[in-house]
Amino acid sequence: MSADASLQAAQAAFRDDLIAHGLLIPMGVDGLYGRSGVFEDVIERFNDLVTRHGGNDGAEIMRFPPAINRQHFEESDYLKSFPQLAGTIHSFMGNDRDHAALIEKLLKKEDWTPGQKATQVVMTPAACYPLYPVLAARGHLPANGALSDVYSYCFRHEPSIDPARMQLFRQREYVRVGTPEQVMAFRQLWIDRGQAIMSALDVPLTVDVANDPFFGRAGRMLAVNQRDQTLKFELLIPITSTEKPTACLSFNYHQDHFGHVWNIRTHDGGTAHTACVGFGVERIALALFKYHGFDVKAWPQAVRQQLWG
Ligand code: ZN
Repeated sequence: MSADASLQAAQAAFRDDLIAHGLLIPMGVDGLYGRSGVFEDVIERFNDLVTRHGGNDGAEIMRFPPAINRQHFEESDYLKSFPQLAGTIHSFMGNDRDHAALIEKLLKKEDWTPGQKATQVVMTPAACYPLYPVLAARGHLPANGALSDVYSYCFRHEPSIDPARMQLFRQREYVRVGTPEQVMAFRQLWIDRGQAIMSALDVPLTVDVANDPFFGRAGRMLAVNQRDQTLKFELLIPITSTEKPTACLSFNYHQDHFGHVWNIRTHDGGTAHTACVGFGVERIALALFKYHGFDVKAWPQAVRQQLWG
C-alpha cells in the first residue's frame, strides 16, 4: 500500500471505530457528524480545564453564533487566502414563479441551487473572526489592550474521511489585542500553558512552526513567509499517523493584519496587533480517545483527575 493509501485506511478505521462505539454519529457527508453525550462531556470537561488555566487572566467572554456578517468576512481578506475553505450561506429570494421553477427542478432531480442568492451571513471560518470588528467599534483600546475568550462552531469546506478533519467543528480561543509586546508575551504564555495542559493529559505531542493552507500559487509564497517569520506554531498530536500528526492547538500572531483591516487602535493611537491561541476541541477529544481508549471510565486515573476532578 502507498503511504497515502495506508494513511487513508488508518483514518477510515479510526472513524469506523468512533462510530461503532457511538461517539460520532454519521450524517451521510464526510466531515459532518453528530456527537454523543460522552463525546460532548469530554469536550465540556476539556473546556473547563482550559478555563482553569486561563480564566483568571480577566478575559472578556463573548459567544458568537457560527456565522458572521458577510461585509466583515469580505473585509477580512479570507477570500484572498482561503477561497477553497469558505462557506457562504445562500437562500431562496424569488417570487411565485421562481418557487414553481424550484419545485419543478427538485421533482426532476435537477440542480436547483443556481437560483439561490447570497445572504448577508457567511459561516464563521475561525472563532476569533467575529471579535475584531466588535473591538474596533468600541474605539481605542485601553492601555493594557484587550483579552477575549471566544468559542464557536467553525466551518471549513474540506470533506475528508479523517475524523480529525471535520467540516463543522469547534474552536475555543483566547485572543489578545494590543501592542506587539503584549500580544507576543501572550502567545509565549499560551505555548507554555498549552504544552502543560496537554502533557498532563498524557498524550504525545510536539510543538512546531506551521503555516495556514493558503490557496494556489500565490499562496505558496504566503506560506513560506508565514513560516520564515514564525507567525504560527502548532501543538501536534499523532492521531491516525505519526508522520502526519494532527494540529490540535495553534498559536497565531497576525501582526497588524486585523488591526489594519478593521482599524483597531491601541491606547496611543497605533494600529493594534493581534494574536490568538486556538484549541481544536474535537481533535483534542479524538486524541484522548485514541490514546486512552473508547471507554472514558477506563482512562488513566491521572487523566480522569484532570478532566473530572
Ligand atoms: Zn484565532
